[in-house]
Amino acid sequence: MPTSPDAVLTVVLAAALGLAGIPVGRATGRMVPLFVRHDPAPDDDSGPPPPTCPHCGTEIPFLRWLPLPRPVGFLWHGRCPACAATVPTSAATAWTTAAVFAAAGYTAGAGLGMAGSGWVALVALLFLGALGAVLSVIDVRVHRLPDVLVLRSYVVAAPLVLGGILTAPHLGGPGDLVGGVGPAAAAAPGVAAGALIGMAALAAFYFLLWFIYPAGMGWGDVKLSGLLGLYLGWQSLSSVVSGTFLAFLLSSAVGLSLMALGRATRKTQLAFGPFMIVGALAVVLVGDPLPLLI
Ligand SMILES: [Zn+2]
Repeated sequence: MPTSPDAVLTVVLAAALGLAGIPVGRATGRMVPLFVRHDPAPDDDSGPPPPTCPHCGTEIPFLRWLPLPRPVGFLWHGRCPACAATVPTSAATAWTTAAVFAAAGYTAGAGLGMAGSGWVALVALLFLGALGAVLSVIDVRVHRLPDVLVLRSYVVAAPLVLGGILTAPHLGGPGDLVGGVGPAAAAAPGVAAGALIGMAALAAFYFLLWFIYPAGMGWGDVKLSGLLGLYLGWQSLSSVVSGTFLAFLLSSAVGLSLMALGRATRKTQLAFGPFMIVGALAVVLVGDPLPLLI
């Protein structure tokens, strides 16, 4: 039971962020129905459609550089600018976001993972959590990771991660090579390099998997992998390995469980995006387990 002020803070932070995650997830969950109309025939290679209103099929415009619809108020009221019908939100997104936010609050309070390295780092992780919840729900429903969400998220995540690096009170991971635990400024170049290497390495790894066996890995997974590599490499290069291994482990475990339950066959294609996201989030939130194991 929490007795010290730190433990109380941890529980309060987890509860507060968990509660805040519900309205955030309700808002971002409005984007889910814009993408789930797409159910292409196997021979349809026209590519995925842009985000559209599920009622009238009108394209919903997005802000130029950000993974948000225009006007942003759509996220709150859900009214289609064309037909004025209300686009429903996705309850799964709201609850998933709340759970991830609560976990981030807990690990931030407990000083675990990257959430424990400052407020900007926490905001960067909350962004990844909110994005991950939306992408996971869309991917499970229609096996898609929309470009308009994935690619523009780099524009938000890169400055947040950089801010997290520059404002960290102390740094571990690749920063140790430069000066160990000490002023953020001294270690920052090493940590930033680690994040960039993580991004490039993971994108290259997934590109290779996709290149060798395109049916086994979606192109959307490749585009998402760089973003996850940025976060994992920010923590440490071994985190990139752990987060990726965890994604494949979880995917196998869920696939085998579904087969055991008779809910899937060896030919069933599971959406891989959610496993990538869960693997990366777990490792950046809780910390890299690899150094403890070897
Ligand atoms: Zn409409």
